[in-house]
Amino acid sequence: MIDLKAAIRTIPDYPKPGVMFRDVTTLIGDPRAFRIAIDQMVQPWAGAKIDQVAGTEARGFILGGAVAHQLSVGFVPVRKKGKLPWRTLSEEYELEYGTDTIEIHSDAVREGDRVLLVDDLIATGGTAEASIKLLQRAGATVVGATFIIDLPELGGAKRIEALGVPVSSLVSYE
Ligand code: IMP
Repeated sequence: MIDLKAAIRTIPDYPKPGVMFRDVTTLIGDPRAFRIAIDQMVQPWAGAKIDQVAGTEARGFILGGAVAHQLSVGFVPVRKKGKLPWRTLSEEYELEYGTDTIEIHSDAVREGDRVLLVDDLIATGGTAEASIKLLQRAGATVVGATFIIDLPELGGAKRIEALGVPVSSLVSYE
């Protein structure tokens, strides 16, 4: 079995001193690791009825596009503010310093669509929570959230599960 952790590069002190940045560009550049990661991200949700996959800019686009293709469903981009060309819904969320805003097209999902959220990594869960709130405001039911990497010490997966959205991930770093 391939070791997915071995395919992820860790960059110390990026983007600032003390942070260990988990870089999945090495994983997605490795055809075997990329295939296995996508298969494993899909696997827990294969029996669930999914209408759409949503992915958060930017690495969530790469992984979410592949997951959507595998599930034969459409893809909803969750983008940084000001990038989408049509009418949008916006959600502001807290960062360590300051706030950020993400958006989806207001017609990106239909009422009652069952959506799986995809991103590369969950840390505090702030990005995933904002993505879930946006999708719910647009009328979707978020049936789950799937990540390659969980940082459990930061509590993100617990925070998302407290919203009633189950979380799956492939590897974790303490
Ligand atoms: P959270 O909102 O605190 O859960 O942070 C998760 C978001 O930040 C995701 O969109 C990740 O892509 C990004 N992120 C945070 N830390 C890392 C990292 O070490 N590697 C890659 N992405 C990260």
